[in-house]
Amino acid sequence: MSKLALFGGEPVRKEPFPRFNNIGEEEKKAVMEVLDSGILSDFIAHNGEYFLGGKKVREFEENFQKKFKVKFAVSVNSATTGLQAALTALGVGPGDEVIVTPITMSATVSAILTRNAIPIFVDVDQRTLNLDPSKIEGLITDKTKAIIVVSLWGHSADLDPIMEIARKHNLYVLEDNAQCPGGTYKGRFVGTIGHIGVFSFNFHKIIHSGEGGVVVTNDDKLAFRARLARNHGDVVVDAYDDERRFEHVLGSNYRMTEMEAAVANEQIKKLDGLTDYRIELADYLSSKLKEIDGVTPTYLQDGVKHVYYIYSMHVDHDRFGMTKKAFLDAMNAEGMPVWSIRPPLYTLPIYQSREVYNKTMCPFECKHYGRKIEYKKGLCPAAERMYEKSFIIVDMVRNSITKKDIDEFVIALKKVLDNAGELKDYARGEKVVR
Ligand SMILES: *Cc1c(COP(=O)(O)O)cnc(C)c1O
Repeated sequence: MSKLALFGGEPVRKEPFPRFNNIGEEEKKAVMEVLDSGILSDFIAHNGEYFLGGKKVREFEENFQKKFKVKFAVSVNSATTGLQAALTALGVGPGDEVIVTPITMSATVSAILTRNAIPIFVDVDQRTLNLDPSKIEGLITDKTKAIIVVSLWGHSADLDPIMEIARKHNLYVLEDNAQCPGGTYKGRFVGTIGHIGVFSFNFHKIIHSGEGGVVVTNDDKLAFRARLARNHGDVVVDAYDDERRFEHVLGSNYRMTEMEAAVANEQIKKLDGLTDYRIELADYLSSKLKEIDGVTPTYLQDGVKHVYYIYSMHVDHDRFGMTKKAFLDAMNAEGMPVWSIRPPLYTLPIYQSREVYNKTMCPFECKHYGRKIEYKKGLCPAAERMYEKSFIIVDMVRNSITKKDIDEFVIALKKVLDNAGELKDYARGEKVVR
């Protein structure tokens, strides 16, 4: 009889870990106030007092500005639409190239396509999987307009060299900071270092309002344009009789409701406590993983405060003679929440076929672009290698997890590694006896 749960042994943990929940009485009270008022959203799409939204939305934006020491916070209904608003604010459009990492959530890159611009993928630093600044300059052309930087899993990208390259080549830096709220880089808040930044308030993030997001910037004009993008900016400028009249952008409805803003207001207050706890759990897990041969804990760059949206580790599967899939299946069978990272985004069908809207192949074959782009295998070797081999993400650093749970995780990990011999011939589709 096998020891591993994957082959019928006793699993280390039988109960699933409790779901993440950081919503309490404060949020309930805040939402009830909004419901009692009857005003669930107070945006109006013309120039006037309510162009910028209602009471809770504005309160939230002010609180966000104070908390993150940034001049403008423009709330939106998701980070996905926030990225679209930010690119609209930057004036990115057909014929432009935007440099971006392939290891991120899909919205980072699809936002570029919604502007009919071209994503140019840059390889990653294999320690953090954040984009590698030393690989950027080789990709800059006369069409490059911006760089989108993601601080993956809560670990800041190496922002100083990126900002320096942007300055030298006159490019914008957009920070997709959905995963790193409260994280810092050399003492500054990540998300506020680029020309414009985006935060997420989606349920799956460290703090949330169900759905929601924020665009931040210290630049008056970018803030003005982001607000136009959020609220039908093609019509509202009609009311201005100064140069703003010509700042029209193709607007949309990216507006946050008063209820979401009321929840988000309470969530900002909880951010530091939530990230402190994540850091405590992560440090504890790292100290345990350090003692296991063939396992590397999360890498920490000097001067970075990692807020651990996700804990990542590296397992040397080759050394244990098993595939990544075998390891993940064995850990999952022991009741442990571990996953592979997602593949580099350019391997997805939309980038491989380059049929974004229809068979016209726009924006790739748009006459305003004029270059030939293909996303071949080998484009970002470090990203591909790290996906195929070694990076594992561990959902063990949220507020419902305890150090005792982490001890259990470490027991399961050692069990799987000690019995790796049993996994040698394990392949997908093989019959598993439970
Ligand atoms: C979650 C996430 C988004 C999208 O956020 P939503 O608020 O769900 O739209 C964008 N970028 C990254 C890196 C993310 O992790």
